[in-house]
Amino acid sequence: HAKSSGRGRHVVFDRKMHEQAVGRLEMESALARAVVNREFHVVYQPVIVTESGELAGMEALVRWRSGTGDALIPPDEFIPVAEETGIIVEIGNWMLDHVCQQLAAWRKQFPEYPDLWCSINISKIQCEQPGLLSAIVDALARHHLQSHVLKLEITESAIMHDMNRIIPMLEELRALGIQVAMDDFGTGYSSLASLRRFPIDILKIDRSFVQNIDRCRTYSAIVAAIATLAQNLNMAVVAEGIETTGQLAQIQTLDCDYVQGYLLCKPMPGEQFESWLRERRSEADKATSNVRFTS
Ligand code: C2E
Ligand code: MG
Ligand code: MG
Ligand code: MG
Repeated sequence: HAKSSGRGRHVVFDRKMHEQAVGRLEMESALARAVVNREFHVVYQPVIVTESGELAGMEALVRWRSGTGDALIPPDEFIPVAEETGIIVEIGNWMLDHVCQQLAAWRKQFPEYPDLWCSINISKIQCEQPGLLSAIVDALARHHLQSHVLKLEITESAIMHDMNRIIPMLEELRALGIQVAMDDFGTGYSSLASLRRFPIDILKIDRSFVQNIDRCRTYSAIVAAIATLAQNLNMAVVAEGIETTGQLAQIQTLDCDYVQGYLLCKPMPGEQFESWLRERRSEADKATSNVRFTS
């Protein structure tokens, strides 16, 4: 009896592995078609100045609505497959061009934000491509953008994965005036001491720390230490994934330059982000005309 149930389990296990492999293959070919069929779009999440509540810039995030279904497939599911097949390079180049075009349009349309910037996530596979730098420079030139308005986000684990190759590349980017943010900081096993060796301008503290900050003193102590260290290394600090007013209140007591999270704003498709910008403008207009009227 034990033997047969053992065999049964074995069969189930095989079938599950088979299903996973088929699912993987299906996703690989669906992704290849997605590039051709332009199934990607971009959502933008505001990054807010902690002290003033002003808009500083935004982060661009890719979205994929697969042609075979209506469902959005989350990046955490398809980016690893796109990385393994190399399709991430094409997706990344599409993102670069699309985001630069959008940013150029918004900068013209909203002159009240002369410093508006956008950051874009870069995969470790893109970093291994010799063409990455020129792809970035070309995209900026094509849309007449200065280099300081585009920022690149690279995860701590990507940098740790291939430090000797990535650090010189980050230095080149920096020489071109393109700022680099280290994303998901705290999850990549670099030591605090090694931070000083990374040529980065911005540190994004991972949401797993931020989200525990109002529940647990250990987390707030860790975030406070990271923020202080980063400030001393001349990096700007972003707290990611703020969902509650308690978390925001805690962050406001620390030296964090920027905040980002669902509490402040969810990522929005381009058209929605644009109306959000317009609404802020008309609110600002109302505020100034009130001042003029009453004085
Ligand atoms: P990330 O770069 O750390 O982006 C932040 C993620 O947290 C986004 O998830 C965003 O929607 C989500 N988020 C923002 N605020 C909150 C919050 O308050 N609470 C919670 N729970 N989540 C929040 P998303 O868009 O699903 O992206 C997941 C990851 O996929 C990104 O993490 C990034 O590593 C990767 N990714 C997204 N777009 C791209 C892309 O265009 N290229 C590459 N290479 N990777 C991308
Ligand atoms: Mg990011
Ligand atoms: Mg992150
Ligand atoms: Mg600072």
